[in-house]
Amino acid sequence: MSTEHSSIPATEAKSAAQAEFAGRTALVTGGASGIGLALARRLAAGGAAVVVADYDEKNARKAAAELESSGARAAAVAMDVTDAASVEAGVRFAVDTFGALHLAANNAGVAGVASPTGEYPVEDWNRVVATNLSGVFHSLRYELPAIVEAGGGAIVNMSSILGTNGFAGSPAYVAAKHGVVGLTKTAALEYAARNVRINAVGPGFIDTPLLKNADPAAREHLVSLHPAGRLGTAEEVAELAAFLLSDKASFIHGSYHLVDGGFSAP
Ligand code: NAD
Repeated sequence: MSTEHSSIPATEAKSAAQAEFAGRTALVTGGASGIGLALARRLAAGGAAVVVADYDEKNARKAAAELESSGARAAAVAMDVTDAASVEAGVRFAVDTFGALHLAANNAGVAGVASPTGEYPVEDWNRVVATNLSGVFHSLRYELPAIVEAGGGAIVNMSSILGTNGFAGSPAYVAAKHGVVGLTKTAALEYAARNVRINAVGPGFIDTPLLKNADPAAREHLVSLHPAGRLGTAEEVAELAAFLLSDKASFIHGSYHLVDGGFSAP
């Protein structure tokens, strides 16, 4: 019996990984922190030119500088996803800077306050829906023509486990994330024949700055909701999003994929 095995030499494995997104330009909204930053790093490691788009301009620049120092092509752009004109300008910036847009992750989001629906502050409702739902629409609105113009590509929209489950005290967040799932499916139907795949990701609770306001007891409660017995990491979500953006996911259109430590299994 042969003792040979099929492991790929490290140098070949590295160049295969770098080829994954070679020649592609990716835009990541909310790319300055948490899941978006982990995804920007993952796409850059796979060879993509990455545009980090965020309304936190300072951290967006810091993220792009980090990617460049690791040898990737990267740029930062100040973008407020609640503002359609800002998103349009950010997408134009990506195309002007790197020549075309092929991939996008519509990930920018905010948590909102915790309050029952009958007491929920109207301003917070408007802010959460403007960011987490209209922000995804604005992004699709300007990314889709650019990606079609480039000959096709893929988009991932960041939903949540709360894209299909209710969650007491988070009416705006839950409604917006459900909306993202419906918007994803609709856009996917419209653009499948134009060679653009659009999917949604549903993370469980993930240990990022988004949860910074959770006190230790609230955090412990969130952990207890996951059969895995812990919160997820930004890298675990980024890995799924990167797969959906890659050619390995070539027959995956209009679907919603969980990465939730078993939260939704019961
Ligand atoms: P985060 O706070 O670490 O990062 C969010 C990023 O979005 C920040 O860089 C912020 O500046 C940016 N942002 C917020 N509003 C913006 C706007 N109007 N325009 C442009 N940028 C804006 O949070 P995260 O946990 O990495 O969240 C990323 C996405 O994942 C969000 O859509 C969030 O709802 C979703 N998500 C998070 C969790 C979690 O538990 N952390 C779970 C499920 C889904």
